Amino acid sequence: MKLKQEILEKIKDVIGKANVFEEEPMSEHTSMEVGGPAAYLFQPETAEDTAFLLKILKQENYPFYIKGNGSNLIVHDEGYDGAIIEMMKMNRIEVSGTFVTAECGAMLKDISAKAVEASLSGFEFASGIPGSLGGAITMNAGAYDGEMKDIVTEVTLMDKEGNVLTKKNEEMDFSYRHSLCSDGDYIVLKAEFQLAEGDSSEIQAKVDDLSARRKEKQPLEYPSCGSTFKRPEGYFAGKLITDAGLKGYCHGGAAVSDKHAGFIINKDHATAAEILELISYVQEEVKEQFGVELKCEVKII
Ligand SMILES: Cc1cc2nc3c(=O)[nH]c(=O)nc-3n(C[C@H](O)[C@H](O)[C@H](O)COP(=O)(O)OP(=O)(O)OC[C@H]3O[C@@H](n4cnc5c(N)ncnc54)[C@H](O)[C@@H]3O)c2cc1C
Repeated sequence: MKLKQEILEKIKDVIGKANVFEEEPMSEHTSMEVGGPAAYLFQPETAEDTAFLLKILKQENYPFYIKGNGSNLIVHDEGYDGAIIEMMKMNRIEVSGTFVTAECGAMLKDISAKAVEASLSGFEFASGIPGSLGGAITMNAGAYDGEMKDIVTEVTLMDKEGNVLTKKNEEMDFSYRHSLCSDGDYIVLKAEFQLAEGDSSEIQAKVDDLSARRKEKQPLEYPSCGSTFKRPEGYFAGKLITDAGLKGYCHGGAAVSDKHAGFIINKDHATAAEILELISYVQEEVKEQFGVELKCEVKII
């Protein structure tokens, strides 16, 4: 579905030609490296440009989807017949005392590096998660006993009408891999964290240790979305999948990692269909063998 030419020209005028892409392959914008073209991909550089896009797309009744770094996103082979609004060009990071404020497109590894530089501790757990701040707040991303909800003080959001609002941590409805933004009702513009003063070499040592543990345990050499499934209460997804005999199981170019069965990987030029079929097969087998429902952590569009 195409936007009217005059509308597209208006969008180019406001957000800049260089930030507008047509028929853009989503395999190039997602860590799983699958997915057909989005009719449009827009990369707003400011909150004002984002509000403009929301208003004009609403006026045209045109579907859109907000994305960050695409490290938790699978797009179908048919692509997305609408506009992807990719928030990665809003990525400033500022440090003031023990507070860090970052825009949604800042990568967690870059925020972590700033925290190390400023001798601030508390962000180390997130340093190896390969996503943007917007995606991490939306998902309440977490690792190694830390979650975004533990360090966020305040989040600046935009609603679908383009209004900007600020929410305190307790208003963000954070829970396991969930937040107020999970249903797509709000866009994360920026967030503030409170960290603690520490020793920069000790903080760096912790970041390095967590990075080494990831390299040892996770199949980082293959495209993936990290853990495919949420942790079912009382179980570990990886153990259930291993016990179901599916570790290393392949379907076309998709595979259950033989290094970490919780990861479904793009082993050899998989299609999105192969990845999604494998996800369903794993869910069915685990349900049949153990009666446990594996819910996807990964978002599918
Ligand atoms: C190798 C690997 C390891 C991983 N390890 C971990 C881990 O340890 N812990 C963990 O929690 N996750 C992990 N992940 C998953 C992923 O990195 C996180 O979920 C990350 O927070 C997603 O951020 P993103 O910017 O890539 O979001 P995307 O994948 O682009 O989007 C994810 C969701 O967030 C929404 N979103 C993105 N930006 C915004 C925004 N600005 N406003 C509103 N909504 C937005 C999207 O609509 C979508 O619903 C891993 C992934 C990989 C590939």
